[in-house]
Amino acid sequence: MTAAVTLDRVSCVFGAPGREVRAVDGVDLTIEAGEFFTLLGPSGSGKTTCLRMIGGFTLPTAGRILIGGQDMSLRPPYARPVNTVFQDYALFPHMSIRDNVAYALMVKKVDKSARRRRAEELLALVDLAGVGERRPAQLSGGQRQRVALARALISQPQVLLLDEPLGALDLKLREQMQTELKTLQRRLGITFLFITHDQHEALSMSDRIGVFNQGRLEQVGTPQAVYNAPATRFVAHFVGAANVLDGDAARRLGGHASAMLRPERIRLGDAAGARAAGTVREVQYFGAFTRVKVDAQGVLLQADLPDATGAPPPGVGQTAHLHWDDSAVHALDAQGAA
Ligand code: ADP
Ligand code: MG
Repeated sequence: MTAAVTLDRVSCVFGAPGREVRAVDGVDLTIEAGEFFTLLGPSGSGKTTCLRMIGGFTLPTAGRILIGGQDMSLRPPYARPVNTVFQDYALFPHMSIRDNVAYALMVKKVDKSARRRRAEELLALVDLAGVGERRPAQLSGGQRQRVALARALISQPQVLLLDEPLGALDLKLREQMQTELKTLQRRLGITFLFITHDQHEALSMSDRIGVFNQGRLEQVGTPQAVYNAPATRFVAHFVGAANVLDGDAARRLGGHASAMLRPERIRLGDAAGARAAGTVREVQYFGAFTRVKVDAQGVLLQADLPDATGAPPPGVGQTAHLHWDDSAVHALDAQGAA
């Protein structure tokens, strides 16, 4: 099967010689048709630049971009089978919602009644039937987000590019939209390339995640693979909380030169059979779990203890005995230890 999107050694360098910013640095990536693929990374890591190159708004300095197996390098944005939903929605404030949604068809000179019909279908698809006459300012943030989605989908793109589309919404609404977006993607079968800096969003929505750091892809994998078997120290820290151990501590506690241990894999127990012991330095209550930081002979280990165990968490200054299974320790490669 032909890949939906292929990046072949793609780089993008901004700025004058001597003061270059390598926004995207030699990225190779294949996104399969029908996939919900997320680019996850901190602010400034090159996610938007990557998306803009796929959309045709920014030209790569080097490398090739293929969509549906075809080289898109020389095609302007409107001639690519993709569409973009931007974080700020970019709706036209003076136009009705219906005209906003139908905009791409207007540009293509589709006749008015057909345009209207299609726009209404798309509005129904995003659960906004009946608001076609309104202006963007008369809708809530969440509703405007759906309009932007309907507008991007009306031209039936092969790939939908979404640049932090939920970033402006409050937490509850964002979680609701995450579910809806995912359901919609499954139903339409369109490839989604989604950008976020939020690890929870990436883990809960994606078929696969590409973790970006300083213009490079550090790892591409399923949410489970990225979380449980991070390829680098950066990925271990960026996706979830992590105890990362080096040198003596790593060898002593896990038998590796460099290793990761997720805080929720650590339990408190008796002195007998404990992997480590030490003094509790910090106790933080989070509702579902309590985070305890234990100074185990100079190594600060963080344990997330589920609230449901019923046992009260230890107090600061007490001694804690830490237990975990061998399978909880994940070796990090030497390269990631830098
Ligand atoms: P992200 O979306 O992950 O936050 P961006 O792709 O927006 O990251 O930016 C990556 C890097 O490229 C940043 O250092 C940013 O300042 C720089 N950059 C992005 N766009 C431009 C531009 N048009 N001109 C110069 N530098 C840019
Ligand atoms: Mg961005």
